[in-house]
Amino acid sequence: MKQLIDRLAETHSLTQEEWYELLTCYNKKTAAYAAEKARKTAQLRFGNNIYIRGLIEFTNICKNDCYYCGLRASNAKCRRYRLTPEDILSCCQNGYRLGFRTFVLQGGEDPGFSDETLCNVVQTIKQAYPDCAVTLSVGERPRRVYEDFKKAGADRYLLRHETADDDHYRQLHPESLSPAVRKQCIYDLKELGFQVGTGFLVGSPFQKAEHICADLLFIQHLMPQMIGIGPFIPHQDTPFAGEPAGSLELTLFLISLLRLLHPNALIPATTAIGTLQEGGREQAILCGANVVMPNLSPSDHRKDYSLYNNKLTDGAEAAESRDALDARLNAIGYRTVTDRGDYQSR
Ligand code: SAH
Repeated sequence: MKQLIDRLAETHSLTQEEWYELLTCYNKKTAAYAAEKARKTAQLRFGNNIYIRGLIEFTNICKNDCYYCGLRASNAKCRRYRLTPEDILSCCQNGYRLGFRTFVLQGGEDPGFSDETLCNVVQTIKQAYPDCAVTLSVGERPRRVYEDFKKAGADRYLLRHETADDDHYRQLHPESLSPAVRKQCIYDLKELGFQVGTGFLVGSPFQKAEHICADLLFIQHLMPQMIGIGPFIPHQDTPFAGEPAGSLELTLFLISLLRLLHPNALIPATTAIGTLQEGGREQAILCGANVVMPNLSPSDHRKDYSLYNNKLTDGAEAAESRDALDARLNAIGYRTVTDRGDYQSR
């Protein structure tokens, strides 16, 4: 086991058989060994700096019907909202004052918020804050639309592949969504010059070790600039309401492995990890994560961007509590920095 982890740290790749062995045979000791190595790897690259991104969840309206997601079109109980461009701009203004130099515009696939409007919003943000990066996370679009987003000034794009196994993908999504299209979108984004983030759900229904191997191999092949993973957490008004949540231990082990696989990657300690367990985000940082994404959305809508049950919206999760976040990170020897935090391939 330790040899495999050492090999991963040296060569930044493993074979499918090796990944499988790691995932099926690891124990607490192995995980602790990987975590320590991953933490040191991150510290060597990033010191004790943690990058912050201001997350603006600008629409919870979605035409898709992903079985795991609380924003799915069929969820009639979801109270829908859509911010105006002015609302989004005022989130940025607020965020800039708080020291955020990256704004992440995330949303459902909302046909009512046109690509053109989104381009205009990106342009306006880039004009108003030329020292800031804009990240989009609005799902699948035709390549030409991604091109327009790029021309408008978007720097980065987050699109998780969710699961790299085609059959598993179909178990998590309706027929209208295809694993091939999802992956093609990710390759298009990379080719167009975005800093690209992908990632997967840990412990989603029907997930097997083989699927996680496929996820790791996909990432090993793609080498995205950002990698976001988090535990699946059930949402009460979805078909997966009764399914168990993913495991914190496995999520943390995977973060350690991802850091060793890709030492320069930007890896967030996601909200889902913090939701699953108090202090989970700090644990993720101690396993090599180096990004946090506090919520900059208007507070009256935060509860409605309900991807899963009990999603954290306050305390250190809220952008306006940067002091609280700093205090928590200081307690484990880290600090947030006011910096765009671009990917660097050193
Ligand atoms: N529409 C955008 C943004 C989706 S929300 C897109 O398609 O990329 C961001 C992420 O939340 C998703 O990629 C998914 O991995 C995660 N998510 C959705 N439902 C979840 C759940 N029940 N538990 C944990 N994470 C979830």
